[in-house]
Amino acid sequence: MVWKRWRRLSFDERNQVIHCTVKKEFIRRMDVLLVEGETKVITNFTVSPASGRFRTSGHVYKIVLAQTTTIRTDLDLPPNVLGLHPVRFNDIHDGKLNPDFLIDVFGQIVEIGNVEILNVSKKQTKRLTMVLRDTNDVRLNCVLWGEFAEQLEAFAQNLHEAVVVFVLRFGKIRLYQNVWSVGNCYNCSIVMNNPDLPEVIAFRDRLPKDGVTLSYTHPNQLTIVNSVSVRADFLTHSPRRTISEIVSASENIKCVTMATIMSIDTEYGWYYMECQTCQKKVLPVDMEAVKEESPQLDFSKKLWKCPKCEDYVDNVVPVFLLHFRVMDGTGETKFLLFDKLAMEVVNTTAAELVDNFDEFKRDNMCRIRRSCQ
Ligand SMILES: [Zn+2]
Repeated sequence: MVWKRWRRLSFDERNQVIHCTVKKEFIRRMDVLLVEGETKVITNFTVSPASGRFRTSGHVYKIVLAQTTTIRTDLDLPPNVLGLHPVRFNDIHDGKLNPDFLIDVFGQIVEIGNVEILNVSKKQTKRLTMVLRDTNDVRLNCVLWGEFAEQLEAFAQNLHEAVVVFVLRFGKIRLYQNVWSVGNCYNCSIVMNNPDLPEVIAFRDRLPKDGVTLSYTHPNQLTIVNSVSVRADFLTHSPRRTISEIVSASENIKCVTMATIMSIDTEYGWYYMECQTCQKKVLPVDMEAVKEESPQLDFSKKLWKCPKCEDYVDNVVPVFLLHFRVMDGTGETKFLLFDKLAMEVVNTTAAELVDNFDEFKRDNMCRIRRSCQ
């Protein structure tokens, strides 16, 4: 069994792998009992259909560990079964593999390319690109991020004509500009260089005997300083979720979803008034009561109570608060959109809409009055 941060683990029995998750409330307990690389006997768990974009196995079911689950060590079992299933690079290039499944990759490092520093979400992170080859001499680009890039860079320091077999467990394949590559999947991947495992030694023996080796010297200066916008970073690095996955999520997540807006729900209104000084929501007041209480105030404009400014204010604007009813193929729900985002969808400001709405009301009132005369 392999237990990895990110609440994800897999079991091997007869070299089969199944995805497993731990409910949020038991992570702390399981983290103590489950040790990466150790073999354990697990009893009393639930089984449910596997889904999602970060699956560690092609198995149709996954295991969910719960309160009743017990975990023990059985000395009769082999102490460490890794259950690595390296894929053929040609299967990646031919598009035979589903990017929603995390894969294992064995590859000889042929070349280490640029090490770049990128600004991702206001933090600097390293990105290392390298070329791997499999036993059929098929090449594959591999992109490592963050600590994975740093670890590989440190390992490769001053290597000279070395044969390095790189093992990536739970890697994620990506298609970018029609080229497939593999990379680490957040921090849930496992990386090993020349590990002393029988399957890796066998892989190494099957590599073409053409003298391809790796020599690497750290460039004195980091090559490129590049930057990725927060928006682009959010869209490419946030997990995709369907509506049913969002609805059933048991914790706060940042994710990207694609859904159709069915309608805007106006049951609870569609805007509120905001104080222009402090951008906080203001509350309506009973003007007659305020007149009696503070006659010195200017009553030529309607007044509002601002809790932040702790005062009556008249410089207020309407801002959107829209409830969208949305759906995708898996379900439906409501999304709440605040002013700026709502403006992008509705293509106008709340102030304009309120003005038009008031004019519309006035016109109609005149018409109604006229027709009543
Ligand atoms: Zn205010």
